[in-house]
Amino acid sequence: MRTGTGQLGRALAAAGALAALAVATAVPAAAAPADPSTVEQDVAKLNQYVTDLYNGLPPTALRDVDPLFESPIPQIGRQNRTTKGPIPGCTEGSLLTYANKLAAQLTPLESQALGAVSGLSQLYTQAVATDKTPQVFGTDGQYTPRATATIDKLRGFWDIESWDVQLVPWKGTDLGSVEKMKQTFGLGLAPAQVADAAALATKVLYEVPVLQGGRNPLLTLNAFSAPADSLGGKRVMLGDGLLDTVNLLGYDDVSVEAVVGHEYGHQVDFAHDNHPLNESSEMGPDAYGGYFVAHAKGDAWDARLQQETTYLDASIGDCQHSHGTPDQRKAAGAWGEQQATGQDNPNEIVPSATMIKNFQEEYPILVPPAGDPSTVAAARG
Ligand SMILES: [Zn+2]
Repeated sequence: MRTGTGQLGRALAAAGALAALAVATAVPAAAAPADPSTVEQDVAKLNQYVTDLYNGLPPTALRDVDPLFESPIPQIGRQNRTTKGPIPGCTEGSLLTYANKLAAQLTPLESQALGAVSGLSQLYTQAVATDKTPQVFGTDGQYTPRATATIDKLRGFWDIESWDVQLVPWKGTDLGSVEKMKQTFGLGLAPAQVADAAALATKVLYEVPVLQGGRNPLLTLNAFSAPADSLGGKRVMLGDGLLDTVNLLGYDDVSVEAVVGHEYGHQVDFAHDNHPLNESSEMGPDAYGGYFVAHAKGDAWDARLQQETTYLDASIGDCQHSHGTPDQRKAAGAWGEQQATGQDNPNEIVPSATMIKNFQEEYPILVPPAGDPSTVAAARG
């Protein structure tokens, strides 16, 4: 009896196990995918979505969209124009050194996730965001009044068409909105994938802790200027992460005005079709920005703030023949400031076309063809 029961029990158990096995094998077939994706898979898939998005953009989408500096932070969609080797004897600026250090601490997975969401949020800022809705500059909105005042002043300062130059904040926290991400992916991704991609972006934002839900400064550690024919049209984009980092490095007094002054300087060049192929394309805007902050009709800054501005210029200098070395960027900013403080009539604003011409004449002195640093020092002194 006991034996029989035991046999029956074993038989039932065996049948149960078979049934369970049958259920177990049947379930995945009925409701695939069975396994939840890993973080690695999510990040790889998001990376592919963002890459496809960039590949699906119109050819002129990113043309001449210019970053404040060539950041070491990996970002999908960034066009790196570094072409030559490092300049011997040059030391990168403090902001670049700091950004390098932060980037070096990332694991490959973190780096990949950051690159994807950074590229995605930049595209949102460039092509979806608009200044027609209230703007919040800085992580907690602390820079909004300065940003608004600066763009207003710049529009009146330079003699270019300015009403349609937007100033928009670049915020990593925009990535938390599925609706905003749908709009962004809709710019270039196949329509059938847009909803999935948007949901995945917000998922990755919170499943990779280093992204801090979009508040990691590395995500938005830059500023950009975009011309009329790029996707989104004329605009200046100011990263929250850049403002946080500049504050950390000690240049908070001048951050918004100096950076927006520089980026608006690109709009001055765009308006005149001035697209130099050398570092004067970056140092020109440094100079125009210096002219603006020091000018009586601009920010009318005193010598101390002017000095701080040139140190900020130097902090983003590189050694890659890209945006100018720290010494060169500092010299360009200081030259611009001197144009303002040295004027006979402090209220006169030099026409933008004249400013461009004057700077192009000065450029070979600031950046001697042979790259002899003693000549740069002499020009500065
Ligand atoms: Zn620039």
